[in-house]
Amino acid sequence: MDFPPLASSFEISLPDWVAKELSDVPDTLPERQDRIALVNRLAARNWREGSGGPFAALVVDAGTGRIVSVGVNVVLSSGISSAHAEVVALGLAQARLGRWNLGAQGRPEHELVVNWRPCVQCYGAAMWSGITTLALAGSGPEVEEITTFDEGPMVEDWAGAFEARGIRALDGLAKADALEVFREYRAALGAGEITVYNAR
Ligand SMILES: [Zn+2]
Repeated sequence: MDFPPLASSFEISLPDWVAKELSDVPDTLPERQDRIALVNRLAARNWREGSGGPFAALVVDAGTGRIVSVGVNVVLSSGISSAHAEVVALGLAQARLGRWNLGAQGRPEHELVVNWRPCVQCYGAAMWSGITTLALAGSGPEVEEITTFDEGPMVEDWAGAFEARGIRALDGLAKADALEVFREYRAALGAGEITVYNAR
């Protein structure tokens, strides 16, 4: 079998259905509960569309609630293992704004909204992105118990580590709704309808 030549780029892009799902969503979501409801809604559709796991994220302007970017997990549709919702949302926000630091001096501050606590990879990605607020529907062992996804060796005081870097961590904003998404995913998993993409 011929081995392909060295790759010089790779692409992580949103599936087409996301734009359609956003067609009735305002450009600005001043209420945090509306941001959380949106990530739960996107997460619920994401796995059904076959894009990846039941995870979604937003980057919003922390002052106004204007949506800067939307991310969903696209590990399956992109074939890239790091293409988690947080990495997608942060990268698309940075691409849109044209800078790597979402917390640059004299610029608006940004909030990352996720339907569950980031995994060990996205913990680092969130920390280095420049966001000043992390808003989560929920956290805890349930995601691994229900979905069987491996979240990695997280530090125990993950919220404290964010706070120590000036990043406010808001947790438990809609835990029951987040768990419902995971339970629906689990039911499909049990029926053999979907793939969990844990490596090895
Ligand atoms: Zn992740």
